Amino acid sequence: MLEYSNELFKEKFNTAVEILKIFENNNFKAYFVGGCVRDYILKKEFSDIDITTNALPEEIKTIFDRTIDTGIKHGTVTIFHKGNYYEVTTFRTELDYTNHRSPDKVEFVSSLEKDLERRDFTINAMALDSRGRLYDFHNGLSDLNHKIIRTVNSPNERFNEDALRMLRAFRFSSKLEFKIEDETYNAIVKNKELIKFVSIERVVVEFKKLLQEKGNKNALGQLISSKIGCYIPFIKFIEEYTDFADFTFSQALYWLMYFNNIELLELKKLKLSNNEIKKIKKYKKIKLEFDKKTPLEVMIYDFGREDVKFIVDIFKIMSTEKIKDIYLPILNFSEIEITSEEIIKIINKKPGSWIKEVSRLIEVNILLNNLQNNNKGIIDFLLKLKDKI
Ligand code: ATP
Ligand code: MG
Repeated sequence: MLEYSNELFKEKFNTAVEILKIFENNNFKAYFVGGCVRDYILKKEFSDIDITTNALPEEIKTIFDRTIDTGIKHGTVTIFHKGNYYEVTTFRTELDYTNHRSPDKVEFVSSLEKDLERRDFTINAMALDSRGRLYDFHNGLSDLNHKIIRTVNSPNERFNEDALRMLRAFRFSSKLEFKIEDETYNAIVKNKELIKFVSIERVVVEFKKLLQEKGNKNALGQLISSKIGCYIPFIKFIEEYTDFADFTFSQALYWLMYFNNIELLELKKLKLSNNEIKKIKKYKKIKLEFDKKTPLEVMIYDFGREDVKFIVDIFKIMSTEKIKDIYLPILNFSEIEITSEEIIKIINKKPGSWIKEVSRLIEVNILLNNLQNNNKGIIDFLLKLKDKI
């Protein structure tokens, strides 16, 4: 056990310490656990604080007024305390790993030690009590200091239980810029095929996190070298990659798709959200518009400055500064000094698809500064156009 109580502990855990004390006052044990402990020792920011306790879910609910049943079956209750949410999980061990997936069945246990044993990596298997004392049964602190990702107990067994842990190793390597310890890495190479048993949704959660972290380039390189990617849709086609730290997930996926010649159909196997697919399709369209030499003003008007800038940036079409400086006389159709009714009246034809075409013509001409955005000018423009429609 290691004394870790200091000012930093008080600052970082602040009111969360009160929760541990409430458990203790009710004769239960409770500890901070997992990511927050790891990040606290590393002096990194953390967003969520997870708590582990020997109190059963029903008992947690009687102690605290404001709770949410997050995953009662797995022993997880969310507590709301002084403006923050905390996930509290009863000490547990996992049973019946079938098909190399995280199990449905868990068994509540009475010791912290047992709970920490089920956790994936040594650096994620530490706990802190209300006084800031560290509980580290698997040398997590030493691995943190040496920047090493190592499974708790035999990597071979741990990856057989839940194959997702293999991907999580790369994810944490990306987040922390740590090395995956040799035995752990070799076990990934050996068991890589088991990743097939894990649902694509869980895989994508880890892949997304991997791409968004600082060490993404290195971690993705290692993931590819291990050949675990060969068993994951889309990822199996990745050969080219870059540093994606400043990319959104959709941007990274578009980049990977384009530079590795991956079909949209393959991307869809990742079961992304509609919004993510929409964004990726939009990037495809912008690239096509650049290929067609569509004027920048029109593209920025149609697709928005940020998304055009992204395409300009990755294809090095021009300086992105230039995109910032492009002036648009209008931002949308409602800013044009003419109404659809006026257009119909001037052209004097039965309403039809031509209205859309004429409106677009007005729009484009204003954007390209061939036409001033004022009612009289636009009417003159329409009168000249009248005979050609
Ligand atoms: P982050 O801050 O990036 O979310 P984290 O450590 O909180 O990192 P989570 O995925 O939120 O990571 O998981 C919380 C904790 O639960 C981990 O620290 C680990 O102790 C445990 N854990 C999560 N997934 C697994 C798994 N598949 N197998 C074993 N333990 C796991
Ligand atoms: Mg977390």
